[in-house]
Amino acid sequence: MQQFQYKRIAIKVGTNVLTLSDGTLNTQRIAHLVDQIVVLRKMGIEVILVSSGAVAAGRSIFKQNAKLDDVSSRQLWSAIGQVKLINTYSDLFEKHLIFCAQVLATKESFGDRKHYLNMKNCISTMLENGVVPVVNENDTVSVTELMFTDNDELSGMISSMMSCEALIILTNVDGIFDGHPGTVGTKLIPEIKAFDNSHESYISSQKSGFGRGGMHTKYSVARKIAQEGIVVCIANGTRQNILTDIVKGTDVPKTIFVPNGKKLTSNKKWLAHSVSFAKGYVVVNDGARQALFDVNANSLLLIGVVSINGYFEKGDIIRIHDTQGELLGLGKSQYHSDDARELMGKKAEKPLIYYDYMFLHDIN
Ligand code: GLU
Repeated sequence: MQQFQYKRIAIKVGTNVLTLSDGTLNTQRIAHLVDQIVVLRKMGIEVILVSSGAVAAGRSIFKQNAKLDDVSSRQLWSAIGQVKLINTYSDLFEKHLIFCAQVLATKESFGDRKHYLNMKNCISTMLENGVVPVVNENDTVSVTELMFTDNDELSGMISSMMSCEALIILTNVDGIFDGHPGTVGTKLIPEIKAFDNSHESYISSQKSGFGRGGMHTKYSVARKIAQEGIVVCIANGTRQNILTDIVKGTDVPKTIFVPNGKKLTSNKKWLAHSVSFAKGYVVVNDGARQALFDVNANSLLLIGVVSINGYFEKGDIIRIHDTQGELLGLGKSQYHSDDARELMGKKAEKPLIYYDYMFLHDIN
């Protein structure tokens, strides 16, 4: 296999790779991962690490007296465990004379374009200064509907935001299998093309051990990110030298998601991950649908809009649906919902959504 020549990659490591069976941090394994990241940096690659493990680490070391509800327990464990986790990384990187830095993100940080750019600038500054960003969800303040599905989703958003060329997701199996891993006759799928959805039906939805995510979310995140032009690799983080082997092109078990050639602009990448922040939605007629997917870049005009739903202000993100209810994409509205409602179906002076502020799914 050909050696990857990357300048910047994101690596996501799951709880099951980082912890022992009792949930305590597996310091030996974390040390080995840090050693490999140091090798990658010596190869000239900037690395952003997205690390889980805080909740499991907190739960394993802190036994509270009082009985707490699920949310409070998670907040407490993550707050305690994150300290342990980042200190472990910090000590290990320091042995190589490298600084690492903690970045705690909430889903909301990605919803507001200003916050998004602040976070992007902050991580860029770390990389420019040779610091390894260690990202995790801020589990102490993220509750229920404001949470990422899991750190797989977070790592996808980070690699998209930071324009990484590759995202490596390390879990405790070798990649995506065509059935449940470990079952006789089940095979590892070595390669999946970004737009190939033929594997969907048999991807195991079973979750493993302590982590929040399952194979299905890994698969969905990987496909989405590959569709944005980023190579995604799912591999087994418990294997020796897995990171350096993947990057050097050594033949190791893994599933690679082959991206399509498309590169999205910064605005479109942000919109691609913003569906949960949409304030409302519009329905477009068939003519407008066709125009949106035309080879020429077309903005969404109010004349092609048949309904406006929800309350939104100028600058808010809205979803675009067709008359069959299919989600076509999303974009930044140039109108308040009241004004858009008044002008829909008519010729208006500016589009409802400019092409540059619109992300469309690959359908048709
Ligand atoms: N943020 C969680 C942690 O640090 C992990 C979430 C996940 O399992 O993806 O424990």
